[in-house]
Order: sequence, then C-alpha cells, then structure tokens
Amino acid sequence: MQQYQWQILQLGGLPLRPDGSYEEQTLYCCTSTLVWPADSAPSPHNTLLTDPCLIGPDYRTSIKTLEAIGHQIPHIGQYFVTHPHFDHVPAYATPEHSLVGKPFFPTDNSLRLVHCPGHEAMLRAITFHDTEDRHVWIVGDAVLNEVWLRAWGYYWPNGYSPSEVAETWRSVANICAEADIIIPGHGEAIIVTQELLETLIQGFPQASYAAACPEVAEVLAVRLSKFK
Ligand SMILES: [Zn+2]
Repeated sequence: MQQYQWQILQLGGLPLRPDGSYEEQTLYCCTSTLVWPADSAPSPHNTLLTDPCLIGPDYRTSIKTLEAIGHQIPHIGQYFVTHPHFDHVPAYATPEHSLVGKPFFPTDNSLRLVHCPGHEAMLRAITFHDTEDRHVWIVGDAVLNEVWLRAWGYYWPNGYSPSEVAETWRSVANICAEADIIIPGHGEAIIVTQELLETLIQGFPQASYAAACPEVAEVLAVRLSKFK
C-alpha cells in the first residue's frame, strides 16, 4: 500500500470554545494539509492540498513551509474539500497564488474517502497511511479541534437537528475506531491514545442526544480494547 507524507500548511483556529468563551486573538480559519507520496518529492503531479482556504495570518508561513520542502502553492496538483462550507472551499490571500490544481479524483485505495455526516450531510474525510504506517484521517469539521472533541461539543451557527447531532457522534466514533492521527477542521493534529479514548468514553453519557446513539460508546470501547 502506498504511504504518504503530510504537512499542515495552515493551522486552523476557532475562537469560540465549547464553554462559550471567546479567544479574541484566534483567527477563524480551517486547517489545510499537503499530502504527497512517501517515495517521491512533492511535484505538480503528486500533491494534494486539503481544504485550500488559505486566508489565515500564517499564510506567508505556509508559503515558506512549502518552499522549505521544495514546493510552491501554484504547483499543487490537486485539492480536496471535506465539505462545502465557506471556510473550507478554495480561497487564497493573494491573487498570484490562485492556481491550485484540479479537484481530487481517487485512482486507488491508498487515498480513501469516508463519508462522515453530521456537521454537514456530504462531509467526507480523506484517509491514508503515513511513513510510520499510522492511519491518518483528515476529517474537516467532523472534529473541530481537540478541545471540542474532548468536550463532546458541536457547533454550527445555523443550528442542528437532534438527528444531525447523533450523526455527528456516530462519525466521531467511526473516525476514532480507525484513526491513529486525526487532522481536524480547525486545529492541530490529534493523536488517538488510550487516554483520549478513556476520556471520550467517560464523557459521552453527558453528550447531547447520547441516548439516540448508544452504539457510539460501544465503538469507542472496542477501539480502547485494542490498546490494552
Ligand atoms: Zn469549518
């Protein structure tokens, strides 16, 4: 199976915290990640950029990060949008960097798309194995960031229906069932550990509409058992 290298180019932020507090200094932008085959240098033929909405203040840093690995934004081959919300679709801080390839088209199973509905009905994660054979899941807003994940918090300003919330928790469970690393929609990479799973299982009964999706706790418990 083809393995991939990955590099977060724009670290996403979400000023609102699940407790309702607001971090004024944090800019609202998505996490954007570059993925390319482990056995190749990144090139216009083999690079994939996820959620290429590069509007954050660290955009220039992203460009430098790319250049450090011998790459430039205009030379990115394909892009993949996890879900069609305004903060994840292609956008660039400067017009000269508006040339980011074509939409991703899967050609084999080494880059797999997984439907993760809830936050948005069409949301898809993209998953692959990295050079340490870790299963990496880039999940968009199926997981907002680690703080929101641990709090069983969900956020969408238009409001969710109870069934959408339960769907969100099922997707969280499916992600945690397989991922070694979760790259969320608005934060840093999250490593799936025994401690994280124990915390999620402990907190789940207090999650909204937990009673509507009891299988979530079972799925998490099965994954936890693999750590012991
Ligand atoms: Zn988002």
